[in-house]
Amino acid sequence: MSGTSELKIYNSLTSRKELFKPLQKNNVGIYVCGPTVYNKVHLGNCRTFISFDLIVRYLRHLGYNVRYVRNITDVGHLEDDSDDGEDRIAKKARLENIEPMEVVKKYSDDFHKTLRKFKVLPPNIEPTATGHIIEQIELIKKLIDSGFAYEVNGSVYFDIKKYCESYEYGILSNRKLEELLKNTRDLSGQSEKKEPFDFALWKKASKNHIMKWNSPWGQGFPGWHIECTAMSLKYLGNQFDIHGGGIDLKFPHHECEIAQGTALNSVPPVKTWMHTNMLTLNGKKMAKSTGNNILPEELFSGTNKNISEAFSPVVTRFFMMQAHYRNQLDISQDALNASKKGYQRLIKGYKFIDNLSSNYIGKSIFDVNEAISKFYYAMNDDFNTPVLIKELFEALKRIKGLSINKDFINKDDLKKLQNTFRVFLFDILGFEVVEDKNDTDEYLNKTVSLLIELRENARKNNDFKKADEIRENLLSIGIILKDNKNGTRFELK
Ligand SMILES: [Zn+2]
Repeated sequence: MSGTSELKIYNSLTSRKELFKPLQKNNVGIYVCGPTVYNKVHLGNCRTFISFDLIVRYLRHLGYNVRYVRNITDVGHLEDDSDDGEDRIAKKARLENIEPMEVVKKYSDDFHKTLRKFKVLPPNIEPTATGHIIEQIELIKKLIDSGFAYEVNGSVYFDIKKYCESYEYGILSNRKLEELLKNTRDLSGQSEKKEPFDFALWKKASKNHIMKWNSPWGQGFPGWHIECTAMSLKYLGNQFDIHGGGIDLKFPHHECEIAQGTALNSVPPVKTWMHTNMLTLNGKKMAKSTGNNILPEELFSGTNKNISEAFSPVVTRFFMMQAHYRNQLDISQDALNASKKGYQRLIKGYKFIDNLSSNYIGKSIFDVNEAISKFYYAMNDDFNTPVLIKELFEALKRIKGLSINKDFINKDDLKKLQNTFRVFLFDILGFEVVEDKNDTDEYLNKTVSLLIELRENARKNNDFKKADEIRENLLSIGIILKDNKNGTRFELK
């Protein structure tokens, strides 16, 4: 388990990097808030899921047994964070004149298809909110029984003032109750809540509301926050290692999850909170209404006014990995172009290492173990992919230098480096080799290496005439073979 003891993760709850130690020795439980499936998946959301894909891949690489739970929100997410507005899925169903579950199916499929293109591995469990109504009702009952929630006219709300008698509310987003009170819209007595900052656990459904279930409080539907508490606690336990999501979910969603979980079990539900930052487009927030928006499929096909050519999912993934997940990232034509070139260079370099001929075998002129430890150091520092990519390029530069400076690498070192590159590029970063038929360097390397081998065999068989012929013919097209005690190299005239 290389580097396990050193892994540090930035915890949004404490605002610092902490040494990662799972609650149960070798097992890691991680929950990430999944999409609300009422629309095509947003590129910004993709960034979140790609980031957590990397995190899970790395934890597994370190040898942890990871249970990764990522939900699908298919009910209860209202248009407004303050429990107002229509349910997003119900609204879409009304507008498209189809069943809510048709909306859910359509956009869940789109979500999965897009993530597959990005090489995002599926979670171990992908629970849906509608599949866990019973669990949610049970938790709400428990919260009412323990005095942390109250029922009004068929709806149930979480009592934040009551919670604050025993615990602190607002610890994740650093909000104080007094400020919340000031900032919450004054509904001048119109609200049935005791306090405007109380949040809904269960909402009474109106007569023509389509998505509703029977409950002890009449027909209704669950609030958005309780679904994640129900599903995370069910599959990961009352306290688990990592909870992740986009930074926009910090408040109120994750703050409410902390309150619910703590009120239910008297322990904070999560050890480490992780939040991914936003993706902007041309320096501005993406929004459908302003046109400053781009869908994944538009990016792949090059059919969006903000870009003039298509970019593949793997180049987009590389582009995202070039920024740290906690930093804001701006997408633009220029940035994508630079990433496209960078990615081609990286893969070309990898192919060079992978096909490195026996030409360069000898005593290593650089410390391969040190280069590899830098890869781990970057990843152990809160999954710092931009530094990792920089170090990968650095190692490639040393290897490229072998051919320029006529230096060597030890056979075992070369093997180790080849394996490590494969593991980091494909298993951890989730990249893939895109065949480039115009990659003449690679073909030249392979072909000349083959001819050098034929010449070597001819010499072994004392067929010096043949050996010289190969050498002469190569020379005539500008390829010079140079023999030394370690073998034969080639140079271009
Ligand atoms: Zn959630």
